Amino acid sequence: MTSLRFDAIVVGGGPVGAAAALALRGQGCAVALLERGGAPPAHDPADYDLRVYATSPASMQLLDALGAWPEIAARRVSPYVSMRVWERDPAHALRFGAADVGRSELGWIVEHGLILDVLWRRLGDIARFEHATIASAEFGAPESVLRLADGRELRARLVVAADGADSQLRALAGIDTVGWAYAHHAIVCHVQTGRPHEATAWQRFLGTGPLAFLPLADGRCSIVWSAEQPLAAELLALDDAAFMTRLGAAAEYALGEVTAVTRRISFPLRLQHATEYVRPGLVLVGDAAHTVHPLAGQGVNLGFADVAQLGATLAEAREAGRDPYSLRNLQRYGRARKAQNVEMLALTDSLYRAFRLRLPGLKAALGLGLEAVDRLGPLKGWLARQAL
Ligand SMILES: Cc1cc2nc3c(=O)[nH]c(=O)nc-3n(C[C@H](O)[C@H](O)[C@H](O)COP(=O)(O)OP(=O)(O)OC[C@H]3O[C@@H](n4cnc5c(N)ncnc54)[C@H](O)[C@@H]3O)c2cc1C
Repeated sequence: MTSLRFDAIVVGGGPVGAAAALALRGQGCAVALLERGGAPPAHDPADYDLRVYATSPASMQLLDALGAWPEIAARRVSPYVSMRVWERDPAHALRFGAADVGRSELGWIVEHGLILDVLWRRLGDIARFEHATIASAEFGAPESVLRLADGRELRARLVVAADGADSQLRALAGIDTVGWAYAHHAIVCHVQTGRPHEATAWQRFLGTGPLAFLPLADGRCSIVWSAEQPLAAELLALDDAAFMTRLGAAAEYALGEVTAVTRRISFPLRLQHATEYVRPGLVLVGDAAHTVHPLAGQGVNLGFADVAQLGATLAEAREAGRDPYSLRNLQRYGRARKAQNVEMLALTDSLYRAFRLRLPGLKAALGLGLEAVDRLGPLKGWLARQAL
């Protein structure tokens, strides 16, 4: 039987896992990356990926530290400089500008496929196991062991579970999750609108769920429209002309008529949180640890923040002459990230529930609240920093 030894094995080559592998390699670790699929396809500039992320400045800094951002930015990103959030009447939207937080932009809309392509091509000498199936795993000190279905055995001081929301490693470690499925599905597509997007992220809180327009580099918008079944099914089944009419009306024509639309995809929404992030020889990062409602566009940003924290926690221990992989040190990572992730999970869930309430008086108060907040500079600045 082949047995291979590494300092760390990252399981899952999504954006968070690929970033984790690069961050650990950057600290001089011998790293393996294990992915059940294959390498991502090369990013095609003629094909604008339907899955895009509102990438925060903190995520940009991580990607920059990994050497990936310059290439991502050179190939295609769309900076956004303001956000408008409204419930009724876009003229009375709450507006956040980059200037409210002393920045030149609030973030960048970046394609999932572009991030993956650039991160994977930087993997270099990291040992890659593609189309790999894990048959069993043991986590512990001094080593964790992964046994693959092809008989190979991989050993490492640390296994990083970055294998997504349905994490096999989380299940193998017996770590529970708490959470619930929202009755919502998110519909995603790119649209052309009659008016320019003004490098602004637009979001309307409809009683049926949030609807976002994110500005793309070619002048179109990426939309994320969350709606309960059966409304989501009905919207997906409409022909393009009828869908564009419904979408324009749902956005109260904030960006004019919708004049063109790509194919539509949809995915179910859920809130899920692992009860533990750390076991001896194992940490959870990204969607393996937490899944949020996309209304705050934070899914991948939380995962990149996990990677940044894990890297910092391991580096600090090394510098202080402590064992970076000790349970005590890994728990520092777990505590730091859990506190911040719980805050974001609670915030997005509260927003989702607040705007879904069908109580006319309360909804009116929330509408008034957004307008009132817009007029209060310091509160608006605080909210803008939270949004960042
Ligand atoms: C359509 C869509 C739109 C979204 N839009 C946004 C958005 O606008 N903003 C935002 O922040 N987030 C968004 N999200 C959420 C975002 O995609 C996730 O938060 C992000 O992908 C999490 O990254 P990850 O690397 O943790 O997990 P994933 O991207 O799920 O990657 C997991 C990887 O692990 C691999 N894997 C799984 N199981 C195993 C196994 N047993 N062994 C080996 N490999 C395995 C998978 O093949 C995959 O490559 C969206 C999600 C979807 C589906």
